[in-house]
Amino acid sequence: MRLIFKNLNILRSIINTINTSFEIKEIVESAGNNLPNLFEFSAFGVLWKAESTLYLYQEESCPSSFTQEVARNMVRVFSILGEEPNDLDRVTLQVEKRKLRPSHMMMDPKATLKSYLTLPLAVEEEIIGCVSLNSDQPNAFDAQDLQFFSVIGYQMAATLKHFQRFSSVKTMAIYDTLTTLYNRGYLEERLIIEAQKSFYGGIALSLVMVDIDHFKKVNDTFGHTEGDKVLKEIASLLKTSVRKKDTVARYGGEEFILILPEAGLDEASMIAERIRRLVESTLFEVGQARMNLTVSLGISNFPSHHARSKEDLVKMADQALYDAKRGGRNRVCIFNPA
Ligand code: GH3
Ligand code: MG
Ligand code: MG
Repeated sequence: MRLIFKNLNILRSIINTINTSFEIKEIVESAGNNLPNLFEFSAFGVLWKAESTLYLYQEESCPSSFTQEVARNMVRVFSILGEEPNDLDRVTLQVEKRKLRPSHMMMDPKATLKSYLTLPLAVEEEIIGCVSLNSDQPNAFDAQDLQFFSVIGYQMAATLKHFQRFSSVKTMAIYDTLTTLYNRGYLEERLIIEAQKSFYGGIALSLVMVDIDHFKKVNDTFGHTEGDKVLKEIASLLKTSVRKKDTVARYGGEEFILILPEAGLDEASMIAERIRRLVESTLFEVGQARMNLTVSLGISNFPSHHARSKEDLVKMADQALYDAKRGGRNRVCIFNPA
């Protein structure tokens, strides 16, 4: 039992390192560095589809024939899964050799590939590569290795997929032109990262959804242009009310979402209440007039509300916001499952 706990802890720390990597090489390297704490193997390999690069992380005593064998094997497995590339010539091979084992366990220069555990890197039913553990020993891997390696593979796939998405996001505008807050596209990307970090790492995460009360009246009374000015002003109040690590985004028309990493319910409530009071006490200039406005806010939190996905968290914050509106507006409500 104690061994399982120890291994689960190692697994958790490997996942965390993968999660906080910023590029493919870093993922391969951090996984490769940490895997020997969990598995006995001679080589670890990652085949990633986007650039047809085969990254192999190997014990320094791996003979080159072994390296070639592993590479061929991974490309073959990848092809069996119905994916290109199907021959080694079309793959760039990047081998990183490190001392992973004590000297007395160095590999025989004539060692051959005796066992392997190769898994597809799959996200949302798309195969983006494969990962493989290889050994010069027969029957080197058991059922528990398979389970643990699957979790690691899943996490690597999710992080890799995120990089792919993010590189397309980078070329997209990430700001909302009217308010200069982050736009909805960026919000979705940011949520993927923050939800992953907290769900896997067991770290708190809060969302606050903010909606301006009776905003339609501002437009109806003073016109759309004046309404826009108010939106900008409220956006800037939101920005000044959060911590450095928080994300403030325009979710839709006059709705905003705040992502508050590492914030428990108390801290999230404090921030939300600070915003509520700040808006309530601000005199907004509209046309020739000055007027008071209020906002309603809904909070959801991981792990308090048992959200299983980022979508759950958004729905829960939305539900809480709805309660705040129904309760009379100008208030903060925390998600209540009842
Ligand atoms: P509630 O308190 O229930 O939230 O009432 P509300 O009037 O704020 O809500 P409702 O959803 O009925 O109206 C939202 C209004 O926000 C309607 C729309 O004209 C306005 N709005 C949305 N986007 C913009 C924008 O970019 N600029 C301006 N000026 N108004 C906008
Ligand atoms: Mg609204
Ligand atoms: Mg509104």
